[in-house]
Amino acid sequence: MSEALADHQTSLAELRHTAAHVLAYAVQDIFPDAKPTIGPAVENGFYYDFDRDAAFTPDDLARLDARMKEIVAANYAMTGREVTREEAIAHFAGNPYKVEIAREIPEGEKITLYTIGAFTDLCRGGHAHTTGEIGGVKLMSVAGAYWRGDERKPMLQRIYGTAWPSQAELDAYLTQLEEAHKRDHRKLGVELDLFSVEEDAGGGLIFWHPKGAVVRGIVEQFIREGLRERGYQPVVTPHVVSERLYEISGHLENYADSMFGPLDVEEQRFRLKPMNCPGHILIYKNRLHSYRELPLRFSEFGTVYRYERSGVLHGLTRVRGFTQDDAHLFCMPEQLQFEFEQTVDEAIRLMNAFGFTDIEYFLSTREAKLRGDTDPLAEDAIRKALERYGIAYDVDEGGGAFYGPKLDINVRDAIGRKWQLGTVQVDFVLPKRFDLKYRGSDGVDHTPVMIHRALAGSMERFFGILIEHFGGAFPAWLAPVQAVVVPISEHQIEYARTVAAELRGHGFRIDLDESNEKLGYKIRHWKMQKVPYVLVVGKQEAADGTVNVNERAASPESQGEKRTVSLATFMEELTQKVEARS
Ligand SMILES: [Zn+2]
Ligand SMILES: [Zn+2]
Repeated sequence: MSEALADHQTSLAELRHTAAHVLAYAVQDIFPDAKPTIGPAVENGFYYDFDRDAAFTPDDLARLDARMKEIVAANYAMTGREVTREEAIAHFAGNPYKVEIAREIPEGEKITLYTIGAFTDLCRGGHAHTTGEIGGVKLMSVAGAYWRGDERKPMLQRIYGTAWPSQAELDAYLTQLEEAHKRDHRKLGVELDLFSVEEDAGGGLIFWHPKGAVVRGIVEQFIREGLRERGYQPVVTPHVVSERLYEISGHLENYADSMFGPLDVEEQRFRLKPMNCPGHILIYKNRLHSYRELPLRFSEFGTVYRYERSGVLHGLTRVRGFTQDDAHLFCMPEQLQFEFEQTVDEAIRLMNAFGFTDIEYFLSTREAKLRGDTDPLAEDAIRKALERYGIAYDVDEGGGAFYGPKLDINVRDAIGRKWQLGTVQVDFVLPKRFDLKYRGSDGVDHTPVMIHRALAGSMERFFGILIEHFGGAFPAWLAPVQAVVVPISEHQIEYARTVAAELRGHGFRIDLDESNEKLGYKIRHWKMQKVPYVLVVGKQEAADGTVNVNERAASPESQGEKRTVSLATFMEELTQKVEARS
């Protein structure tokens, strides 16, 4: 081993790729008929593809897991040596995959073999020094994968695993996975009857059920309030428009692969809108504007359609039709900073209200060859806006979009996962393409700057993230059903109806359970439905005008609080919770 190699600090990717070697070693020992192919590190772990006739079973994975732990414990050094192409081919005779790789290594490039214990692999390197550096490793699953990702080539078996520098980190990762599974919005969407994707309607298109639509309505109302207070004007634009519009905007040229259509109608071609911007631009362009009117801020809960391959669709977070909390601002360059400040302020208000307190900001600037005179001004405006709120941010120099500099807003959810939500994008390009103008104070026409902004991002995606963030247990202000009234016996049905009617009359979202099930069953059922309050009413409650409040537990393991209070007291408490959004 060279001096430089001995000094080098093993990266997580190198550690995980080393674990892939360890897996192939274990497979060689236990299933010598399996032919190893390739084994890279991936996000959170690694995989290795094997060619083997029999399928790897869960029992096989358990045996491999045990053998891998022995190989790790043996703390084998990873040793490399350079060989000739002929030597490599000879070494892997009988394994056509390795031979193919050896043949394809470009002339002049080093060909190296790496060995741990009694297992040698063809590999270009980038490893831990020893197998003992792997602190925790676990095999996760098996899936089919074609050799070289080509469906005309043999189907291999891909074994996935995860590896970490310590057992504690592995344990934490596995706990997070388990927690993530419990919170999976696709699973909770069914259990809580929030939304569905319907086979007969096609993938990636969301059907919002009544309970999901209630939550969406509350989110929309919250966003609308903010828009109104900050001087946005709602607009509404068509879902289907002539393709001509996307010719002018440049979407047809650069974005056609992601668009649905075209639809031919009376010899004109139409498209489903993939973005709201061109529509808002047409409204701006419909008449002349003076500098005195700027900034103009048009907002729309605009539904857009984008083609995504069926393989990448995922619940609410990767879809083909979605509604953005979209807005476009038309302003003078000197107004950028104020508008950015307002946008950042509103983003913070939105994120905090929905329980996201860990927010990250990411500024991307345009690549050098696209930059114009106004780029530094816009970047400066964004930086000053962020600094004004004491916000730390990362910068990706030159990594920004074609249009202009851009700010991405990411949040971490209750279990520490990062999600991208809002984007605020400065645009110097579309105003020019559409030849937008305003009459300046100098009496001359100027081109306005545009800001595109969506803070929640898409209603679908935002809802999916909310479901996972709260694990389906929405706080009372957001819960589709805030309380359910459960009579103990049929004798209290009348009183239960009065209680429900009174609460509904005050604007609360209330269910009434008149079923014939046993009380214990009913309470369990509503707790599984994660309703914040179950109000049990029996003989005593009916006589006293009270309700027995069963509060949803803070965690599934703990018992929720129980208490009997007057209906008026309960309403007061609930009102406070809703108003405080707590
Ligand atoms: Zn390797
Ligand atoms: Zn836009």
